[in-house]
Amino acid sequence: MDIKSIIKDAEVNILPYFQAISNTAYANQIKILNAFRKFNVSERHFYSSSGYGYNDIGRDTLDTVYAEVFDSEAAFARHNIVSGTHAITIGLFGLLRPGDIILSVTGKPYDTLDSVIGINRTQTNYGSLRDFGVEYLQTNLIKDKTDINIFDLEKISSYLTSYPNIKVVFVQRSKGYESRPTLSSKLIGELNSYVKNFRPDVYLVVDNCYGEFTETHEPTYYGADMIIGSLIKNPGGGMCESGGYIAGNKKAVELAAYRLTSPEIGLEVGASLSQTKNMYKGLFYAPHTVAEALKTAVYAAYIYERLGYEVAPLYNDPRYDIIQAINFGSSDKLCAFCKGIQRGAPVDSFLTPEPWDMPGYDDPVIMAAGAFVQGASIELSADGPLRPPYTAFLQGGLTFESGKYGVICSVEEITGEGNALF
Ligand SMILES: *Cc1c(COP(=O)(O)O)cnc(C)c1O
Repeated sequence: MDIKSIIKDAEVNILPYFQAISNTAYANQIKILNAFRKFNVSERHFYSSSGYGYNDIGRDTLDTVYAEVFDSEAAFARHNIVSGTHAITIGLFGLLRPGDIILSVTGKPYDTLDSVIGINRTQTNYGSLRDFGVEYLQTNLIKDKTDINIFDLEKISSYLTSYPNIKVVFVQRSKGYESRPTLSSKLIGELNSYVKNFRPDVYLVVDNCYGEFTETHEPTYYGADMIIGSLIKNPGGGMCESGGYIAGNKKAVELAAYRLTSPEIGLEVGASLSQTKNMYKGLFYAPHTVAEALKTAVYAAYIYERLGYEVAPLYNDPRYDIIQAINFGSSDKLCAFCKGIQRGAPVDSFLTPEPWDMPGYDDPVIMAAGAFVQGASIELSADGPLRPPYTAFLQGGLTFESGKYGVICSVEEITGEGNALF
């Protein structure tokens, strides 16, 4: 197959999907502009505060803007939340008490949450939820008759009725590093209604990482009690230096705020240390940046499918997160792919990624990341564990042009075309 003609075809054949992505970005952009207007965002909101950060109007207004944009009663976004895992930790520890149970309904949560929850009973996870007397239950996604992944409603309802101590039902929207599809906000909303039929008292909490602005509504629009994410992913728009957010109903967000700082103090304090402007600017850019990342993913899906690799989602599938999985079938190809993505990056393009034994993973992992913000996966990045089927997870791309170039570099490495394709 002629690689050059595949690359040429790609531009034409993916165009209709780009249009749909742009429409979503436009709807989200308007929502954000409306929120900025509603709360009169202005220069004075960008000033920095220090010390306790009392009366930081910029920080407080940004919280209100986040709540508005995410169709929720309350929210907070903070630069000093160090990662998505930290944000989720704040949310869960805010809601759960000794004797409570957390029920994950999308299988095992994201790897880094293992030790937050204390999933592995034999591990001594000092400070995990389990350590504090919170138990963990899990149901997995199952396949319906048409092979579509759905919630195991029968098991979920049986748990909800037989375990009155379930306080949190936990959903991971994105597939993360699993080989299941990502869930739409609407489907999570349907689950929420189902759960509340049995137990109106539980909190439905969503790990929203990688999902923000890929659709016109977040799970909170459909009734989720809490959504949580990272600012070096989608909602930071590639502008935030670090941070996380929590949005949801008033009570849930208040409880999380007491865990973020201190009981009673909550959101009254927290110096902004000159980070606020970037956080506004990042939110402003987010719909567009997410669209660029989605276009990059669609482009990669098209090209690698045509090259004969198994990809998920397909280029013409609906998308509810920015992750593109590509099965390379061999360790060499996976490494070559990551080498190409690294070569196309604006930062550290001269490095060659090598597999390494990452803490918490059973197999060596290879990563490509040439980002302005360390570890920012809204910037073009790829990673994958060195085990069959040798899947690379590609995500991000601040601009489609740079994303496209990264993908082309990866094709050059995979096919041994050298620098011939650009
Ligand atoms: C990124 C991510 C997290 C949190 O990851 P951090 O590396 O701690 O920011 C949690 N869940 C999912 C699905 C993610 O993609």
